[in-house]
Formats: sequence, C-alpha cells, structure tokens
Amino acid sequence: MNTEILAVGTELLLGDIVNTNAQYLAREMAAMGFSVLHQSVVGDNPGRLKEAVEMALSRSDILITTGGLGPTDDDITRETIAEVLGLELELDNEALKSVEEYFKRTGRVMSEVNKKQVMLPHGCYVLKNDWGTAPGCIVEKDGKTVIMLPGPPREMKPLFEKRAKPYLEKYCDGVIKSVTLREFGIPESKVQEMLSDLMQGANPTLAPYAKSGEVLLRVTARAENAEKALEMCRPLVEEVKKRLGDSIYGENVSSLEEVVVRKLQEKHLKVSFAESCTGGYVAKRLTDIPGSSEVFECGVVTYANRIKHQLIGVKNETLAEYGAVSSQTAEQMSKGVRELSGADIGVGITGIAGPGGGTPKKPVGLVYISVCDSEHCYTKRFILGHGSSEGEREHIRYLAASNALDMVRRLIDGLPIE
Ligand code: ATP
Ligand code: MG
Repeated sequence: MNTEILAVGTELLLGDIVNTNAQYLAREMAAMGFSVLHQSVVGDNPGRLKEAVEMALSRSDILITTGGLGPTDDDITRETIAEVLGLELELDNEALKSVEEYFKRTGRVMSEVNKKQVMLPHGCYVLKNDWGTAPGCIVEKDGKTVIMLPGPPREMKPLFEKRAKPYLEKYCDGVIKSVTLREFGIPESKVQEMLSDLMQGANPTLAPYAKSGEVLLRVTARAENAEKALEMCRPLVEEVKKRLGDSIYGENVSSLEEVVVRKLQEKHLKVSFAESCTGGYVAKRLTDIPGSSEVFECGVVTYANRIKHQLIGVKNETLAEYGAVSSQTAEQMSKGVRELSGADIGVGITGIAGPGGGTPKKPVGLVYISVCDSEHCYTKRFILGHGSSEGEREHIRYLAASNALDMVRRLIDGLPIE
C-alpha cells in the first residue's frame, strides 16, 4: 500500500526545527513493508493544509500526519482533515476523561481550549495518548486511511509504536519483526564493506544506519507470525555478529551507556569518572539510564590543572612535563578518581575539543582516555573528528564520551583494548 507522510507546522516549514518525525515514520513504515512515496511539509494554514491533504488522498492509500493536534488556534489538523473527509467532529468522552485526569494529576487547571483536543472525527479509531494530552486518531474513509499523530516526537513515537502500528498490521502481509544490533568501533564504510553481500536479501533484510560513530544494524523479516519472523532473523543476526565480532556491543539495546550500566549491575561493579574535555558528558549519558545509581559513584569535572592535582592527585610534575592532555595525565586521572571514590573502575578523559587550543603536536581532536580497575590500567590515544575546527566541538566531545563508555564495556568483559 502506498503511504505518504505530511508534517504540519510553520516552524518546520521555515527550518526552525528539523522534521525528525517524517524520518522516523518513513523508516518505520518502510520496515513494515509499506511503500513510502511522498513526504511533505505544510505550515499552519488551513487552505494549504486542505490542498495538501486532498493531494495526498488522491494518490496514496495511507496518509500519516504529524502536528497540529494541540489546543491552540494554530492547531488545525483535525478540523481540516475532518472537513476534507466530510466528517463532523465529536467530543470523545473517554479522551476528555484522560485529559482531565492529566490536569488533575499535574495540579493544573484545565482550560476550555483543551476540550478542542478531544474533538475527534466521527467514527474514528482513537489513539489514546499516555505521553501527552492530545490523542491521535485513525480515520478510514472511501478506501483511504488517515492517521493523525501529535507533533512532539516524545508523544508521536510511542503513540505510533504502541497504538498505530498494531492497527496497521492488518494491512501487512504477515507480521514484521526486527532485531537490532549496535556496533561501535568499526567505521561505517568498513562495516558496509564487510556486510555488503548480506545486504542484498529481501526477507530477511539487513539495513545499516550510521550515527555519531556508531552503526545500528537492523535485521527484519516478514512471516506469518512473530515467532517465525524472529526465527528467520536469527541466522543473519548471527552472521553479522560473527563478522563484526566484539565491536557489536548489544542486541536490541538502545545505547552504549545502557549496556555499560547493565553490565556493571550484573557484576556488582561501580564506576567513577574524571572528565576534562568532556565536561561531565559521560556522567550525563550514564545517569540518563534508569538504574545507574546502583553503579555510578561519581563524576568529577577536573578542568583546571590545579583541581586535577588537588582533587584526584595528578602529579604536578606530570602536568608540567607532559601537559594536561597526555596519556600520563589520563592514567593518573583514572587511578586518582578510582581511589578518591572507592569505585571498582576509574576512568580519566582529557583532550582538546577545540576549536582553538590545538598545536601540530597536539591537534584539536586529540583525546586520551584511561580506564583502570584494581589490576589493569589501559590508556588509549584518539584523534577524533575530521580535523576541521568549525562545529566539531560537540562531535569530538560526544565521540570521546562514547569511546570512554566502550573502553569501560571492554574492561568489564575482559575484551581487548588496544
Ligand atoms: P501540542 O499539543 O504540543 O501543540 P501538536 O500536535 O499541536 O502538539 P505542534 O504544535 O505541531 O504539535 O508541534 C509541537 C512541537 O512538536 C513543535 O514545537 C516541535 O518541537 C515538535 N514537532 C512538531 N512537528 C515535528 C516534526 N515533524 N519533527 C520533529 N518535531 C516536531
Ligand atoms: Mg500545537
């Protein structure tokens, strides 16, 4: 079935925000086996939205819209689509009840305009929104299906995943299931090369998605039931794991930090970080994971040399002789913070995130990371980023944090850290 995605919102149209909803939905729909043939964006303008909806319905079987379901005057998606389809809007009592409950729970007063959100097209299938206030809905009319989802990604995604997707499965030929593998350490182009022959298949399929130094590999199969589909994924999953070896850090996991937290929990280990160039980034990412309090002792941001010395015992001679960005300093940072906190594992990160401050000997992107436990200490030198100084700071810091997490993972599992 032909699908198209229409994102509604003037901020999108003018480039103030990026249309991540379309990216997400296109990928999800394609993975389910729908043909995604058009994507468009239209502002909060009833006339142009109407035109866009009419156009979409003239050429596609399924239209998914995001945005414009809120309570304010510029939220016009529901009204406009109902008008195009010739349907009345009706107050949905159940949706009203859950919006009322939401306001009660959060101690806020519900205003009359919030009722607008629960005016839904007659006969629609309601997508209950447990992640926000505006419900989504699905309307079927004259052989066309229109799915309306709210704009905020943190509502749109679960609403699609948990509510709309099960509904759409009736259009799918069988069931589609995926297994995801996450890889860190082998560059994307190399991964592509190593797996290119495996990417030719039609069922199961293997698709790579590269992002910020990692590659997500998704194996997807279609079969008459979920169990069978997952079983069909298995050989391909195993082959990918075999080829990429220990750079695969997890199956069906969401991030390196999640894997590190789970492994530390399993082994009852605690970790502490001394961060310089990452400024607390690793601590932030680790504490994003529920349950991190069991395994995370402390993160100290030791920016000034004086603090590196006073707080975690980096020797003044080391700082004077080798500099703050050196393997010697990184090593003393990891050992120092481990000692300071009494954690099982200590990590030290020091580097030059730029854009200024680089020299030919110590360029922007140079980062030393050290991890240690009671027996071992491994210190690694990295050159991160692309060597241009513009806009690389965030990227370098993110990659440094990822590498630190990967080194912790390797230390816990006794994997090589060269
Ligand atoms: P609300 O009840 O929050 O108003 P809504 O369904 O009316 O929800 P919009 O008002 O269109 O949605 O958008 C709300 C916010 O959601 C935007 O400010 C933006 O941050 C985010 N958003 C909307 N559309 C997209 C999109 N296509 N991609 C990414 N983010 C989006
Ligand atoms: Mg809105």
